[in-house]
Amino acid sequence: MEKILQVKDLQVAFSTYGGEVQAVRGVSFDLHKGETLAIVGESGCGKSVTSQSIMRLIPEPPGRIVGGEILFNNMDLIKLKEPELRKIRGANISMIFQDPMTALNPTLTIGEQIMEGIMEHEKISRAEAKMAAVEMLQLVGIPSPEARLKQYPHQFSGGMRQRIVIAMALVCSPDVLIADEPTTALDVTIQAQILELFRDVQKKTGVSIILITHDLGVVAQVADRVAVMYAGKIVEIGSRREIFYRPQHPYTIGLLQSVPRLDIEKAELVPIPGTPPDLFSPPVGCAFAARCKYSMEVCERVYPVQSSLSNIHHVDCWLQDERAKKLVSTFVKI
Ligand code: SF4
Ligand code: MG
Repeated sequence: MEKILQVKDLQVAFSTYGGEVQAVRGVSFDLHKGETLAIVGESGCGKSVTSQSIMRLIPEPPGRIVGGEILFNNMDLIKLKEPELRKIRGANISMIFQDPMTALNPTLTIGEQIMEGIMEHEKISRAEAKMAAVEMLQLVGIPSPEARLKQYPHQFSGGMRQRIVIAMALVCSPDVLIADEPTTALDVTIQAQILELFRDVQKKTGVSIILITHDLGVVAQVADRVAVMYAGKIVEIGSRREIFYRPQHPYTIGLLQSVPRLDIEKAELVPIPGTPPDLFSPPVGCAFAARCKYSMEVCERVYPVQSSLSNIHHVDCWLQDERAKKLVSTFVKI
């Protein structure tokens, strides 16, 4: 499958009064043309920092991209200067956030805002920009778009505002759309409609989507592939099917067990005991070791080598590695 974006060994740190936080610790993944890749994990796992790094939206300082490459159209986005990045943002890669209000200017009409987005990147007349705006509002399912172009953000419901934000993000036909918790602020019915809209828009435009979420229900509805992040690393990546039906990393298994299930009567949430490690001084071995009931001595000493269960399903866990037994005398915690 054609790769539209490649992230290689990305490392991001933040300076704080308490020291340097290693928020992203060597993340690698490919994004294929026309797919939706979900990045999941608890808050603080580095998923938002990863996506903001792609758009180079990390505030530097206190943030800093310490290493790695982000390859897009034969360019390394990490090496680009601000004016070059500005051309790419919106036109080639665009991003939408959790709260639609932060993306919209309350003092401008919806029409002005969408048209501004197009005219910034493309040499077209106002009339043409207006036509494109109407088309976009139609694409995202806003009824009577011509009339609604003249309205202000507060005249729309939360779900409608998120549709408008999606329209703004898509107006320059980007290759990649990054959506960070796009439905978290919305109620369940509207959330389902917005997810449906993502699928619909992807079918019509072929845009590749990176979806950042902590909600596995959302992942189950729209993702083609899933990357599970823990303590600044991707610990497992695979097709949606493999991650949901054949999860291998104890953390992925824990996440799936902590989701309430509708198909089982009185299903109970099983929280994962413990808390993620301190990323001021991350563990040298597997960061999940302190919470993992299968943890062996080797887990704490050496970071697991990635094992491949198929050509698209990879996991960082010593349980999958035959050599674990030989490396250090092992024991299973009781
Ligand atoms: Fe558990 Fe060890 Fe696998 Fe980490 S590497 S998830 S501690 S078994
Ligand atoms: Mg976040």
